[in-house]
Amino acid sequence: MNQEKGFTLWFTGLSGAGKSTISKILEDELLKRGKKVEILDGDEVRENLSKGLGFSKEDRDINIKRIGYVAKLLARNGVAVITAAISPYRQVRDHIRNENKEFVEVYVNCSLYQCIQRDVKGLYKKALTGEIKQFTGVSDPYEEPLNPEVVVETHLETPQQSAAKIIEKLEQLNYL
Ligand code: ADP
Repeated sequence: MNQEKGFTLWFTGLSGAGKSTISKILEDELLKRGKKVEILDGDEVRENLSKGLGFSKEDRDINIKRIGYVAKLLARNGVAVITAAISPYRQVRDHIRNENKEFVEVYVNCSLYQCIQRDVKGLYKKALTGEIKQFTGVSDPYEEPLNPEVVVETHLETPQQSAAKIIEKLEQLNYL
C-alpha cells in the first residue's frame, strides 16, 4: 500500500449528479486504508475561500483555480484530496491537471433528466422557472471531460458501485 502518496481526485459533473455522496463514501474507504483525506466541497469553498464570487465564467474559473491550488498544497503533503465542485469548464480543469501532478479526473455522469428528477437541493425547480440564473445544465454550459481517468454513471449505478469503480482505478494507478 502506498500510504504516503498524495493525489487529487477531481470530480466534475452536474449539480445532483452524486459528487458529494460518492466523496463521503470514498472518504470512509480511504481513511480505513490509512490515508489522510480532505474533501474540498464546492458549496463549502464558496462559503469560505470564495465568498462573494458569482457564477460568471470568470468567477467560476477563479473559484476552481482556488480549489486546485489548495488541492495541490495538500496533495504534495501526502493527503488524498477529493474535490466535489461542478467545475463545468474543460479548459480550467485541464489547467489544474497541468499544475497538479497527481491528478485523477472523475466524470460523475448523470442525465440531466435524472438530476432534475432527484432535485436534491430544490435548485433545478428554481432554475427551470428562472428564479435562479446561470444554472449549469439548464441555463449555463457544462463541458464534459474528454479523457477522464474514470467515468461513473450514477443514473445506472448505486453510490457504492460508483465508489468501487473509483477505488479500483486508484489501485490500478498505484495510489492505494
Ligand atoms: P452533487 O454533490 O453532485 O451535487 P449529491 O451527492 O448531493 O450530488 O446528490 C446525488 C443524489 O443522487 C443523492 O441523493 C444520491 O443518493 C443519489 N444517487 C443515486 N445513485 C447514485 C450514485 N451512483 N452515486 C452518487 N449518488 C447517487
